[in-house]
Amino acid sequence: MSIFESLVPSDEEISKQKQLLATLSRLINKEWPNSKLYLYGSCANSFGFSNSDIDLCLSIDEKEMSKVDIILKLAHILHAGNLRNIQALTRARVPIVKLMDPNTGLSCDICVNNLLAVVNTKLLRDYSQIDKRLRPLAFIVKHWAKSRCVNETYQGTLSSYAYVIMCIHYLQSQRILPCLQEMEPTYYVTVDNNICAYFDQVDKLNGFGAQCKDTLSRLLWGFFRYWAYAHNYTKDVISIRTGRSISKNMKDWTRRIGNDRHLICIEDPFETSHDLGRVVDNRSIWALREEFERAAEILHLDPNPNITLFEPY
Ligand code: ATP
Ligand code: MG
Repeated sequence: MSIFESLVPSDEEISKQKQLLATLSRLINKEWPNSKLYLYGSCANSFGFSNSDIDLCLSIDEKEMSKVDIILKLAHILHAGNLRNIQALTRARVPIVKLMDPNTGLSCDICVNNLLAVVNTKLLRDYSQIDKRLRPLAFIVKHWAKSRCVNETYQGTLSSYAYVIMCIHYLQSQRILPCLQEMEPTYYVTVDNNICAYFDQVDKLNGFGAQCKDTLSRLLWGFFRYWAYAHNYTKDVISIRTGRSISKNMKDWTRRIGNDRHLICIEDPFETSHDLGRVVDNRSIWALREEFERAAEILHLDPNPNITLFEPY
């Protein structure tokens, strides 16, 4: 818990994030009154560390403009504010504007009309409110992944988003978390032809996992044991959408298609054709599995796991 507490952002930092969101919204709404700026990613999903960059998404209905044109115009609009290092990255897989706000000292990335990310951010935050063990578990897993260099998608390892989903899956398997997408929906949106629906009245689910008394350290050990020894990498896909593992056969994720190798399969909860493990290749899969085994062994045998587990790679 003290490791978790040392990573959580302070109230002051959270109010600075809100301040920056308000400043940027004001600036952008002058030019585009019907647009809306959303916080997403770790500063809104409750799994954000102190000092992390801010992810923002501009929702805008400009049918005549391409995404790249919107990004270029956005960068132009932002130049009117007191902001630094404004850069339009129009060639990235997801085009963004990057900037730094000297008032708050915060850096942020703004993308356009990536509303699925706003919705999956809400799903993760809703899960975090059901059982108080999820947040510290995911913080510690993310901290471990960053320390051990297995949180780098461009090097074939997994995103923070994927690790949080792996934690939710594990807690679903322990009956500590329910499966919100299998319950009667109270929240619906359609984004790019994907129907996103789930039960979001999570205050009614307080105490859901109370029957399982496992402590945070036991769950952390269980999480690594699951990924080191129990998960069936050949046959299974983890799916928080259904609350269990489903078969690779069912999804036709049994062979390599293009660059998707499906060596570790993590279904996106809304974009179900999207395997969050697709970045993993023949080399990085072994690096990952060795790290899961190392972590499981440390938690089993090491008298000081709180140091060894996070030793820089
Ligand atoms: P960090 O603290 O490391 O910045 P983060 O929660 O911001 O963590 P990222 O992996 O940087 O996580 O992703 C930011 C957001 O982008 C996620 O919360 C999610 O909404 C979205 N996202 C990231 N990767 C994917 C993906 N492969 N598919 C769909 N959405 C994704
Ligand atoms: Mg982020």
